[in-house]
Amino acid sequence: FSVNAYLTAHMRTVPDWPAPGVQFRDITPLLQNPQVFRVMIDAFVHRYMAPELRPDVVAGLDARGFILGAVVAYELNIGFVPIRKKGKLPFTTVEETYELEYGSATVELHTDAVKPGDRVLLIDDLIATGGTMMAGKKLLEKLGATVVEGAAIVDLPELGGSDKLRASGLSLFTLVDFA
Ligand code: 5GP
Repeated sequence: FSVNAYLTAHMRTVPDWPAPGVQFRDITPLLQNPQVFRVMIDAFVHRYMAPELRPDVVAGLDARGFILGAVVAYELNIGFVPIRKKGKLPFTTVEETYELEYGSATVELHTDAVKPGDRVLLIDDLIATGGTMMAGKKLLEKLGATVVEGAAIVDLPELGGSDKLRASGLSLFTLVDFA
């Protein structure tokens, strides 16, 4: 049984969304099917139950990273913290701005979300250019935490994001590669 092949078979590609020429990799079918959802979550949970990788906290990236991260954290018996798009978090925050193809984006994290020395699992649904995950890593490091690994369902390796993240010293774990 190949988790990679099983998940790949349940992905949906939507052409020309959100813009002409973009092939959007839609993960919602993986959440909708209870067997697929369980296989996917268990793949993360089993990896991070291992003592050498076991984190203190899971940080999820807005918004699909919340869906995965919350369930993984619950199963690992550890807490979950959200990294949100600017303007959504009510308490004091640290923020990080990063470049997009057109313009820029800012993400925020509550200043008490992690403590110095915390080992954090950073999770999102997909890595494209890597900008979002890199911004999340910087936020966690601003608060003195260490990212034990970045995890995602899908990597789009041709966009170079995963290479860039690994070159920055971040260990990455993904379940599906799309050319
Ligand atoms: P990056 O910052 O790596 O360029 O883009 C990744 C972020 O954008 C992730 O938060 C992800 O949810 C979203 N994203 C970009 N392209 C896609 C895509 O094709 N499918 C999905 N599901 N998310 C995408």
